[in-house]
Amino acid sequence: MIVTGPTIRFVVRRPLRKLHGRSYIWLSSTICRARCGTAIVGTSEKRASSVTHGIFITGTDTAVGKTLVTAVLARSLKELGLDVGVMKPVETGVVKGQPSDAGRLTRIAQVSDSLDFVRPYAFRLPVAPLDAARAERRTIKIPTIMRVYCQLQAQHDLLLIEGVGGVHVPMTATMDVLDLIEKLKAPVLVVGRVGLGGVNHAMLTLNALRARAIPILALVLNQTVPVKTAVARRQHRSTLELLRESAGVPVIGPLPYRAGVDARFERAVETMAANSEMKKLTKLVLASARGSR
Ligand SMILES: [Mg+2]
Repeated sequence: MIVTGPTIRFVVRRPLRKLHGRSYIWLSSTICRARCGTAIVGTSEKRASSVTHGIFITGTDTAVGKTLVTAVLARSLKELGLDVGVMKPVETGVVKGQPSDAGRLTRIAQVSDSLDFVRPYAFRLPVAPLDAARAERRTIKIPTIMRVYCQLQAQHDLLLIEGVGGVHVPMTATMDVLDLIEKLKAPVLVVGRVGLGGVNHAMLTLNALRARAIPILALVLNQTVPVKTAVARRQHRSTLELLRESAGVPVIGPLPYRAGVDARFERAVETMAANSEMKKLTKLVLASARGSR
């Protein structure tokens, strides 16, 4: 029997394929959440009803803490009993044998999905995906990302997708991260910096998402540098207060600064999971996931 959810509005024309012997997924290069999130033929009723959606984690900039926030969410939601999947559609600056975002996420989420699967595109050059791909004479194919997204979504209760840089980072010659988010039809978490410039960057990102009618779950403010002066403290407080006034979405944070996060990532995730603001974010994400069922 084909189990379809309320967002299915069309006839499935292509064959469904058995996936890992547990559930079936419709494979199509143009598939989107409305299709792949619910177009499941299952031997397991639980599997069909538990498929919810993906949440896309983007940033107001690069190195704002997307991976940390994604990893903490994966850990916390897993502890609450959810089967959490992770995905990093594109990662640049990947050096064999060195830590990577996708590697960290798969380890924290304890998924059995292979690294190459959750991260279909990895490039060595630490530049924007379009240029990193060009340097290797490769092309990022959005249908490939969509296919992986659909498969991972079908395999897990909830899929956390970490973006790359900010929303206007070019992926292909014609598409940026914002275009990808729009295609995935996933709600978004925005991670930004608390501190000088934080209001502008956050509002630019939130407005870009709103212009495409993309649902925004929350803005998470992260303290990416230590606060050493009274002026810096004032700037942080100001950013937080102004964004609480004007963001128009729940503002979480600020998450406290942690020195050497990259070197002691798993420890940082563990500590951050106990943070009250991250607990608040976990509840919000959980409510959103439940609401979509
Ligand atoms: Mg990252």
